[in-house]
Amino acid sequence: MKGMKCRCGFATISDKALCPRCGKRMKPAEWPDEGTVLSFTRLQAIPEGLPDPYNLALVAVAKGPKLVCWTSGTLHEKDPVTIVEQKGKYLCSLRTDLDFKLDESKLD
Ligand SMILES: [Zn+2]
Repeated sequence: MKGMKCRCGFATISDKALCPRCGKRMKPAEWPDEGTVLSFTRLQAIPEGLPDPYNLALVAVAKGPKLVCWTSGTLHEKDPVTIVEQKGKYLCSLRTDLDFKLDESKLD
């Protein structure tokens, strides 16, 4: 995931040349496509053309920006998510790789 970051700590996914917080020049940055849910909202009125349910999550990328992501799932605070950009919108879904642990003691 690409964006811009500033020495003052401000980070954004938008293409800003100057930091809105301190006014200094920002540098290109790249972050992993993963984050943690800060808050989650279930939309009551779904915009036309979108599948239902369609919800919004505020996601914090580690050492990176916070972004609003669409999701069709139900998420909770502190859930780990994977972020995908699609046509300029950010979508997120619960990271399943963390939960997928094979319990070898039960294989016999
Ligand atoms: Zn700054």
